[in-house]
Amino acid sequence: MDYEAFFARKIGALKEEGRYRVFADLARRAGDFPRATYHHGNQQDEVVVWCSNDYLGMGQNPVVIKAMEEALHTVGAGAGGTRNISGTNHYHVLLERELADWHGKEAALLFTSGYISNEATIGTLAGLLPDCVIFSDSMNHASMIAGIRASRAEKRIFRHNDVDHLEQLLKECDPAVSKLIAFESVYSMDGDIAPIAEICDLADKYGAMTYLDEVHAVGLYGPRGGGIADREGLAHRVTVIEGTLGKAVGVMGGYIAASSTIVDVVRSYAASFIFTTSLSPAIAAGALASVQHLKVHNALRVRHQERAASLKNRFRNAGLPLLESATHIVPLMVGNAPCCKRASDMLLNDFGVYVQPINYPTVPRGTERLRFTPSPLHTDAMMDDLVAALKHVWSAHDIQRYLAA
Ligand SMILES: *Cc1c(COP(=O)(O)O)cnc(C)c1O
Repeated sequence: MDYEAFFARKIGALKEEGRYRVFADLARRAGDFPRATYHHGNQQDEVVVWCSNDYLGMGQNPVVIKAMEEALHTVGAGAGGTRNISGTNHYHVLLERELADWHGKEAALLFTSGYISNEATIGTLAGLLPDCVIFSDSMNHASMIAGIRASRAEKRIFRHNDVDHLEQLLKECDPAVSKLIAFESVYSMDGDIAPIAEICDLADKYGAMTYLDEVHAVGLYGPRGGGIADREGLAHRVTVIEGTLGKAVGVMGGYIAASSTIVDVVRSYAASFIFTTSLSPAIAAGALASVQHLKVHNALRVRHQERAASLKNRFRNAGLPLLESATHIVPLMVGNAPCCKRASDMLLNDFGVYVQPINYPTVPRGTERLRFTPSPLHTDAMMDDLVAALKHVWSAHDIQRYLAA
């Protein structure tokens, strides 16, 4: 078999569909966020980044940078081992305490990413339980689906945020078997929010554990930034809360917060936690400083919401196809992969606006979109420039002005 030719055809198929991924080569500029330098060919241009998950600009916050520098000079670059074999640095321990407190849980556990947190924790918990059935929201992130696969547990998919459908599936299930309901608080592509209280009620009624991915909410919601469950006073009702340190926290890594026993079992059984070098201590120190800062700076969250509301208003007034959401995520529907890619290219090359096209499998086919994430550091002038650029692109490409159903 001609392996090279086979794989080249797989790439060709993506290109034909218009969903071949091209990475924008960027140098983010600390102190000047959301501006970045865009490298292409031999050229460099200044762009405004509109699709970063560094939602609050914490990745350039002087408090975070200073903490990382200090840690780097104090304890060196790498952790030097797995958590079990010489790689537990004091910063890891302090950060886990801080994260447990953030979510009002007994304990927390760090992973090298949010993806691994989901894959490892769901895989381990549902894998250890005999005959576990996992109830999974249809819009769950790829990393939770990876965890479900890894667990080899049976899965039932409930319609997105549909508690009636979830209850129907729970009802059909043998009352004697163990159950896990896996869902997210803020869904990152539509920006909608799960009915956490109702899902916890069903979990109580049918004896299920709950697993909540708060990746797009930690740092952003609740009086101390503990997420949507924190905002709604529900954290104590959720069995496991999972988060990332790579989005609003502005650094990298992932974690879970739960009871001491659950954290201990994941720590003790999850291969992708055990057999990997722990996070660089500098990263842990940066995340620690960031979480401490976020807990006491609610003004950042207020400004973040104001910026999102302001951008949504501008889009509405311009007649752009905004997908309405109750969160900081601002999607514009395009509904066609090649069109979405062309719009994104034109914004980048002609207007210095960087927003990545979002295509299948990240979103369902036919719902391709541009997803904007305004931060507290995006100014009114940047928003006005963006809207002017979008109007040009929308008429140039005759993108249908419609609202998603
Ligand atoms: C980004 C994301 C993750 C993974 O987090 P990383 O820290 O980036 O690996 C998990 N869940 C959801 C819903 C995400 O969007």
